[in-house]
Amino acid sequence: MAPNSKDIPVDSPDRKKGYVVDTHLKLPSDIGTDYNFKRKWVWPNLIGFIILHLLGFYGIYVMFYSHFQTTFWMILLILASGEGVTIGAHRLYAHKAFKATFFLRLGLVLLQTVAGQNCMYIWVRDHRLHHKYSDSDADPHNANRGFFFSHMGWLMSRKHPAVITKGKTIDMSDLEADFVVMFQKFFYKPLYLLFALALPVTFPVWLWEEDYWNSLLICYFSRYVVLLHITWLVNSAAHFYGTKPYDKSMLAVESFFVSFLTVGEGWHNYHHAFPWDYRAAEYGTSFSFTTFIIDVLASVGLAYDLKTTPNDMVQRRAMRSGDGSHQFCIDKAVKATDANGNLLAEKDKNLFPAQTGEIHTNGDVKSNLTNGKSPDKVFANGKIHDESDKDK
Ligand SMILES: [Zn+2]
Ligand SMILES: [Zn+2]
Repeated sequence: MAPNSKDIPVDSPDRKKGYVVDTHLKLPSDIGTDYNFKRKWVWPNLIGFIILHLLGFYGIYVMFYSHFQTTFWMILLILASGEGVTIGAHRLYAHKAFKATFFLRLGLVLLQTVAGQNCMYIWVRDHRLHHKYSDSDADPHNANRGFFFSHMGWLMSRKHPAVITKGKTIDMSDLEADFVVMFQKFFYKPLYLLFALALPVTFPVWLWEEDYWNSLLICYFSRYVVLLHITWLVNSAAHFYGTKPYDKSMLAVESFFVSFLTVGEGWHNYHHAFPWDYRAAEYGTSFSFTTFIIDVLASVGLAYDLKTTPNDMVQRRAMRSGDGSHQFCIDKAVKATDANGNLLAEKDKNLFPAQTGEIHTNGDVKSNLTNGKSPDKVFANGKIHDESDKDK
């Protein structure tokens, strides 16, 4: 049940604010989204983002009049610091999907500092909150509040009280025990100024005599804006446009587009279904450059104890809760109707009833609609019955 402002006493200060504070004892599924909640802009952040974007776009224009090496340097910084976020902040620290040696952790925290997306500790806490309370008011970028909010609006809005109360309940003891993470947290501002601003901007000036202002615009402002939007697409587009082969009850989807831009973070329905999997996708390296890098790191001993998900567990989940778009479900739907092992029909995912009805995993698939209409084809007793004639 979503928090309801009608439940708050009229004279409560929380009612004047227009939202409910006490979500502390509610379960994730009970928090929901309170559509009466009026989010308030944090004006310094909003103005800061507008200035950042204006300078970032100007930097893209300046690229045409600067050394080409500066643009390559910017792309290299985006790729390297992006891996600091995806491998370091996301898969290693937020999900503990593998373990890393001290030197790998040091390198990943350094690259994550270059990305400038807040310190590792806060990044991980927000992301754990996102997974634990996905698409509810306790999710910092609740996708039920729309594309813009989940993309970047959340960073310029006052937090929903549920984000604050539930954020305090997230177990961060593993990060608190990590010297590298806590060192970065304590010295984040000077480290940010050095690794996200000073060094990236100064290198092109030193090495190929780039104009200082051009370097600042391209290697700081444009780089920052591009990487932010790529990262944000995982919270926005990958919760809106795509299929849900593993769990149709969640908003997270499989997105080739987001996976391409984020080098492997867009297989988001899988990732939300199996968040501990270091591949963040079912099919591994060919679908994720980041997974390939982790495999390389593991082959030289820097990463170890990589966690994956057994195929049969993935298939059972797809059968039980997916939208029927998983290849296993498509194959199963056709083969399940065949008592002699022969195909009774061409593979056609529209025949698969998971999108509309129930699945029996004993080799027999039945269809019954939840939207009130009759299906054209029904799998029952090992045969396909064409129901479309009945209505004629
Ligand atoms: Zn995640
Ligand atoms: Zn997500």
